[in-house]
Amino acid sequence: MANLGIPGNTIDILKKYDFNFQKKFGQNFLIDTHVLEKIMDAAEVTKDDLVIEIGPGIGTMTQYLCERAREVVAVEIDKNLIPILEDTLSAYDNVAVINEDVLKLDIKALAEERNGGKPVKVVANLPYYITTPIIMGLFESGVPLKSITIMVQKEVADRMKTGPGSKEYGALSLAVQYYSDPKIMMEVPPNCFIPRPNVGSAVIRLDKCEEPKVKVSDEALLFRIIRASFNQRRKTLVNGLSNGGIPVSKDELKEILVRLFDNENIRGEALNLQQFAALTDEIYRLK
Ligand code: SAM
Repeated sequence: MANLGIPGNTIDILKKYDFNFQKKFGQNFLIDTHVLEKIMDAAEVTKDDLVIEIGPGIGTMTQYLCERAREVVAVEIDKNLIPILEDTLSAYDNVAVINEDVLKLDIKALAEERNGGKPVKVVANLPYYITTPIIMGLFESGVPLKSITIMVQKEVADRMKTGPGSKEYGALSLAVQYYSDPKIMMEVPPNCFIPRPNVGSAVIRLDKCEEPKVKVSDEALLFRIIRASFNQRRKTLVNGLSNGGIPVSKDELKEILVRLFDNENIRGEALNLQQFAALTDEIYRLK
């Protein structure tokens, strides 16, 4: 089968099947062999790996993954793409296509079943409208994971990587950095896709840590505190947390903030992950 990274081959397939792009599914297909090669290098896929691809589209990146991985499982929501994938991936016997919404699929069970519980690699050019739920789902559901190498909106890649003091810093930054080491691998301009997205893109690799970066007495409380802090960005932490239903009085909280950070008016956006963990443990102790 012809390499779909070459634009003419993608156009031929789209014509052959009279395919209509569905905006609601975030369909922007890659048409750049150079970018595809670089994603493969970034993901470091080997013949030992089971790779899960989210949203194979017409199978462009899937072809590259099949060449490098032991096995590929590609999860695609759009049923109109399934007959196309059968055609474009017919040369490979190491791929399974699942027609399903990735947010509804039990990826943990799938990884355990097909990879004997060993960590899998996720590689994808993600549908941008569900980037955050996909990433959080992968981390929180306990999928055995080695790494996630994904194309995302450039601005979202920046958010995952950044720390206190930047306006992109928020709950996603802290969650990603709690579970993994993020590294931006490359930027990708709109003309590498058909149709062209309205935003710039970037490939980011998240290497899952064996253990979360910080230890806390109550992980769920840590994330409640983080969410409450950033829900009301312009408020002080004291107001953000009490409006966010965190079980501690304003006076107790002020006392903790002075003790930990020497500042009762500090904002959430000034705290790093270790500081959020310290705050969580103090609040937990009062519960
Ligand atoms: N991998 C292809 C490529 O690089 O050319 C296509 C990437 S395109 C940005 C995103 C793909 O994700 C589309 O094929 C879209 O139909 C699929 N998709 C969207 N929402 C999905 C979901 N909830 N579950 C699984 N696939 C989804």
